[in-house]
Amino acid sequence: MSEKVIQKHCGICEKEKEDGIFLYHFFICSECEKEIVNTKPGESNYQMFVKKLRAINQSSYTL
Ligand SMILES: [Zn+2]
Repeated sequence: MSEKVIQKHCGICEKEKEDGIFLYHFFICSECEKEIVNTKPGESNYQMFVKKLRAINQSSYTL
């Protein structure tokens, strides 16, 4: 019997990943987390991230 790795659904890239963080009930894989950190305002990805993250929690989380 092999140990099953639990895959979680990343809310940003929408892929199943093992590693990442949880923001409330929302899972962000480590790759997306890195991308978010490295994305600066004005870059095309940024608005997408902000939009998705805003949907998680409208009041207490700001990027
Ligand atoms: Zn992801």
